[in-house]
Amino acid sequence: MICVICKTGVCKPGKTHFSAFVKDAFMVVKNVDAMICDNCGEAYYDAPTSDQIQAQVELAYNNTAEVEVMKV
Ligand SMILES: [Zn+2]
Repeated sequence: MICVICKTGVCKPGKTHFSAFVKDAFMVVKNVDAMICDNCGEAYYDAPTSDQIQAQVELAYNNTAEVEVMKV
């Protein structure tokens, strides 16, 4: 699959770290399966992985962590 961001890179399976601000917290999920662009590094997640990330982030946020580092 060709990367939609840079339009030149090719996305290959790999591991990446997902990070995002959620309200007033910063969340990091380590070692997430993703398709990663070999040119710009953009990561693409499939639907089950996205759901899993969202569930982990919500769980961590509800545990009132300001910074949470999680392992999938
Ligand atoms: Zn790219």
